[in-house]
Amino acid sequence: MSKHTPPRAYFHVHHEQMWEWATEPMENRIEYIKKEKPTSEIDTRLRLLKEIPYERIKSLVDTKGQYDAVQRTAWEQYEAVERTAWEQYEAVVRPAREQYEAVERPAWEQYKAVERSAREQYDAVQRTAWEQYEAVQRTFDMEALHRELCPDCPWDGRTIFP
Ligand SMILES: [Zn+2]
Repeated sequence: MSKHTPPRAYFHVHHEQMWEWATEPMENRIEYIKKEKPTSEIDTRLRLLKEIPYERIKSLVDTKGQYDAVQRTAWEQYEAVERTAWEQYEAVVRPAREQYEAVERPAWEQYKAVERSAREQYDAVQRTAWEQYEAVQRTFDMEALHRELCPDCPWDGRTIFP
């Protein structure tokens, strides 16, 4: 139903509701019923769907019309205030965000460059020291040493609880 036409009430727009206010032109609902509802339901739905005469619910229609007008105006006022508040928020936050990004990006690049270099230095020192240690370790026969120094040992090469 377009915004400024008076409200119209119908019986049995939907099968689980006795009556309701139309929210769109009833031709749309009728087309939908004809196209989408099970064939066995269509005749019944179309037979029972009917407008409630204005003369029988005059004060209800009028009151609903007044409600619609008040609601519409109040909503438009809300939207106008909300839109302005949002624009003010964005006006403050957008430049701050852009400024933050402009500062943050080069600072991050700087951090990454220093970190990468420090890490490469660590890797090089660590690798050299480990190679020196391993060269010495290879000169020891730990298997033979274990057989000698750990008699009656259940160690099977994998666990002491075989
Ligand atoms: Zn052992």
